[in-house]
Amino acid sequence: MDIGEGKPCPLCEGPLASRTLPDTSGDESPMRVTLRGFPVFSCAAPHRYFVGQQVPIWLLNAMVDGELGKIPAGVEKGLLFRKYACGGCGTVLPAAAAETLTYSSALAWKETPGFAIDVTIPVYRCESCGREQARSGPELAKLLPAALVHAFKAAGLKAPG
Ligand SMILES: [Zn+2]
Ligand SMILES: [Zn+2]
Repeated sequence: MDIGEGKPCPLCEGPLASRTLPDTSGDESPMRVTLRGFPVFSCAAPHRYFVGQQVPIWLLNAMVDGELGKIPAGVEKGLLFRKYACGGCGTVLPAAAAETLTYSSALAWKETPGFAIDVTIPVYRCESCGREQARSGPELAKLLPAALVHAFKAAGLKAPG
């Protein structure tokens, strides 16, 4: 598919233009991902396309390799009976989340306009040191791909290629 500014939409042949996606969320319980100001190519219909074939994979990698690591997280322990320990002091975290927090990242694909991606997750407060954190970093990385796909689908963004 040849997707670009002024190119015909592969579905309706209407001209494509650079647009900004309305804010779009995807849920993969208990995570919610929200794209704000995400750049796309779109016809008038609108049929929407990624601004580059590599964008979905790039976004996933940028989050998993970089941004998710900035969210404070606990450590998963136990093979059979799983529990989660504070990433700061090692105390076992309470079973119930204290609240839901949103962590926001600013990203941009190549020369296209920057956008924000919000990751909203339950956070657990350590009863010893007060640190607020996600239960587990690997758990976040596991939830993110599905949450992103739900957001893309909600926006009618088709798989590239
Ligand atoms: Zn179209
Ligand atoms: Zn702690």
